[in-house]
Amino acid sequence: MAAKKCAEAGLRVLLLEKQAIPRDKVCSGLIMGQWAVQIMEREFGGIPQSALATPPLLTGHRFYVGAAAPEDLVWPSALSWRKDLDSWMVRRAADSGVRVWDETQVRGVSAEQTGYRIVFQRGETRSELLARAVIGADGATSAVRKSLYPDLRVRYSGPIRLCYQGALDLDKQLFHWFFPKSLPRPRFNVNHKGDVFLVEGSALQELQSEAGAILARYGFDPAAQPLWKDGCAIALLHDALVGGSFKPGRGNVLLVGDAGGLILPITYEGIGSALKSAILAAEAVIDSLERGTDAAAVYLQRLQPMLRVIDRLRQLQSDLAARPQTEAGLLKQQLRDAYRETLTLQMVAEDHG
Ligand SMILES: Cc1cc2nc3c(=O)[nH]c(=O)nc-3n(C[C@H](O)[C@H](O)[C@H](O)COP(=O)(O)OP(=O)(O)OC[C@H]3O[C@@H](n4cnc5c(N)ncnc54)[C@H](O)[C@@H]3O)c2cc1C
Repeated sequence: MAAKKCAEAGLRVLLLEKQAIPRDKVCSGLIMGQWAVQIMEREFGGIPQSALATPPLLTGHRFYVGAAAPEDLVWPSALSWRKDLDSWMVRRAADSGVRVWDETQVRGVSAEQTGYRIVFQRGETRSELLARAVIGADGATSAVRKSLYPDLRVRYSGPIRLCYQGALDLDKQLFHWFFPKSLPRPRFNVNHKGDVFLVEGSALQELQSEAGAILARYGFDPAAQPLWKDGCAIALLHDALVGGSFKPGRGNVLLVGDAGGLILPITYEGIGSALKSAILAAEAVIDSLERGTDAAAVYLQRLQPMLRVIDRLRQLQSDLAARPQTEAGLLKQQLRDAYRETLTLQMVAEDHG
């Protein structure tokens, strides 16, 4: 998104991606909140069927808390495999004039008198180039962030994803959230894509036997082996972001999406906030290169409404966690309301931002 915006404004843009495109990403691939939906519509004219999964549209979320009957939240959301969604976006960026180098890993970024030196590696070869601005959209373990803030201490959570052949006796049009301890955390989720189903969560190792027993009620064979398993990291930077000890930009180096710690609390939705911050960063770079000003100053100021949303959701998340253990029936309603608030708060920020 950032590369496409900059190229559309006439800048010469190089997009460096360490993996081969199409690349997958541990993600449920739901286009969930308003930012994501609106940006996809406005900037890309909607998502083609070829970039969506089967089913292409979920009707909402279902919450399972303890033994209480499940609670539903109606919230239609497009569903994708990230390799398809992201490679479609990269193709659209290339159509706008972006040069794309995949299998190219950024090793570090440093400030020079005339711009920023980017050291990168392709195969065995290390090279470097100079750029007037850098947008680090390189995810939770961002190399660009490490270059900007080598001493920043970052906590991570480590979600894993298990992919099984077949289907469970669960509605395929819904996204299923399980809270086995009748608490907001730990949780795991299940969704269906084509002829497989995926079980995902940060605490799956710890919940393995509970998850197996719960899903057995819906036809899961606890002895079944997954077709594949993968995992990733989430950078837990909300406190530092809101408290101001971490600023996702300095000079003309800006951090967007997970690199900037901008994944949303509660739902841990991050496609919309990555796209939205990418647009803000691109606009800040375009303005600052025109005027010879500092892009980070503009970006950090325009990011404030998003940081207020993150702050609000962070408080809601800690309120939920701190509530005395309520009975499951009440908790499922509180969770449903918190998830709904996460999705709708974004619009408030947009309107008043
Ligand atoms: C289990 C799980 C489920 C999720 N489900 C959803 C969901 O349904 N909906 C939603 O909105 N969000 C979801 N999220 C969050 C979402 O996946 C992320 O917030 C989002 O992908 C962030 O986008 P990004 O572009 O910032 O980073 P990423 O999508 O991580 O992209 C970063 C890119 O940078 C590349 N890269 C990394 N390092 C380098 C380097 N040194 N040099 C060059 N390239 C590099 C990576 O290969 C990658 O392609 C989920 C997260 C998890 C863990």
